Amino acid sequence: MKAEIISVGTELLLGEIVDTSSPFIAQHLANLGIDVYFEETVGDNPKRLANAIQTAAQRSDLVVLTGGLGPTEDDLTKTILAQVVGRSLVPEPKSMAKINAFYAQTDRPKPQHADLMGEIISGATVLPNEVGFAVGMLLATDQCTYLVLPGPPAELQPMFEKEAEPRLAQLNHRQQIIRSRVMRFFGIGEPALEDRLHSLISGQQNPTLATYAKQNEVTLRITASGTDEQGVEQTLAETARKVNHLAGSYFYGNGDDNSLEQVVVALLKKRQLTITAAESLTSGLFQSTIANVDGASQIFAGGFVTYSATTKEQLVGVAKETISKHGVVSAETAIAMARGAKRRLQTDLAISFTGVAGPDSLEGHPAGFFWVGLALPDGQAITKKVQFAGTRNAVRDYAVKTGLKLIYD
Ligand code: ATP
Ligand code: MG
Repeated sequence: MKAEIISVGTELLLGEIVDTSSPFIAQHLANLGIDVYFEETVGDNPKRLANAIQTAAQRSDLVVLTGGLGPTEDDLTKTILAQVVGRSLVPEPKSMAKINAFYAQTDRPKPQHADLMGEIISGATVLPNEVGFAVGMLLATDQCTYLVLPGPPAELQPMFEKEAEPRLAQLNHRQQIIRSRVMRFFGIGEPALEDRLHSLISGQQNPTLATYAKQNEVTLRITASGTDEQGVEQTLAETARKVNHLAGSYFYGNGDDNSLEQVVVALLKKRQLTITAAESLTSGLFQSTIANVDGASQIFAGGFVTYSATTKEQLVGVAKETISKHGVVSAETAIAMARGAKRRLQTDLAISFTGVAGPDSLEGHPAGFFWVGLALPDGQAITKKVQFAGTRNAVRDYAVKTGLKLIYD
């Protein structure tokens, strides 16, 4: 079943109101196994609205219209839809009674078009409005099915969930199930990830794989559909396994809201390991990022911002000779910073960042070059060298995430 959503309202086109109803409807339709192929916003204009409805009716099985069911001059949806399908508007007795009772009770004058809110297109199924006055409708015609919902989300949402959804589920008797899984990656660009997953992505139909990049990370959404839940979940699990086989070294977690710092804090809690940091390049960003996670205090006591050579010596005891011999931006200094921080705070782990945020180069290293050091519980230390390209803040963000990924690995 192919669906299309038309949001009606000039205020949406003006950007005065953000359309939250289309995503709401789209998500619910997806859960019902109904595919949304188009979404459109149209102003309160009779001709353009009629055009939008006609176009939608030709290419979609289900056309969802939201907004414009109220009592004012610019509330056109029902009137125009009635014209397009060539049917008349008829009063719906219960709604009419509710409207009349309301205006009889108040001293507010009944608006001229108030009755419109209680009218439906003849032959339509009434969807009662528990919150407001404008009734919704489900209308089946030879060409397609229309679902007409009020604009205010507080009216639309309960009407959709209580009245429309069960009926749509019946209509969509194939009962397609759509499920998706989100996998998150760091340390690989979007094109490179796509290359690695080429065998899964090319010619894909079910499941589909889509990547998108955000803040130095790449997210992969795997979506599978089918008629039985177990089969769909199995497809997802199998695909995730294949993805991990091809790009597992960059993977760090599942889910839309699962950040690298959340994953790392959870991991450290589980292993009962504490951590501190000595930060030059990132100047506290790592510590601030860790502290964003609920319950970070269980694994993080505090740390050091060692931006200058002097503070590296004074705060975490880096030897003068280490800096003069190897430079501030070096594996040796990174290790000395991490070991020094770990010693001072007696933690299990300590991480350090030293590098060139840019735009100028430092000690002959170009902007975006940095070292991350990690002192381990057994006294060993590891380092990672990175050359990144980006603005100062992008470099610092990338360095923090590199550090988090190093801990995760
Ligand atoms: P009313 O009886 O309030 O006039 P209506 O069914 O005619 O309801 P509209 O006039 O189109 O609906 O919209 C009423 C209000 O509902 C808008 O001013 C806006 O605040 C909200 N609204 C409408 N459409 C959307 C949408 N797509 N997303 C979020 N809010 C919306
Ligand atoms: Mg209105």
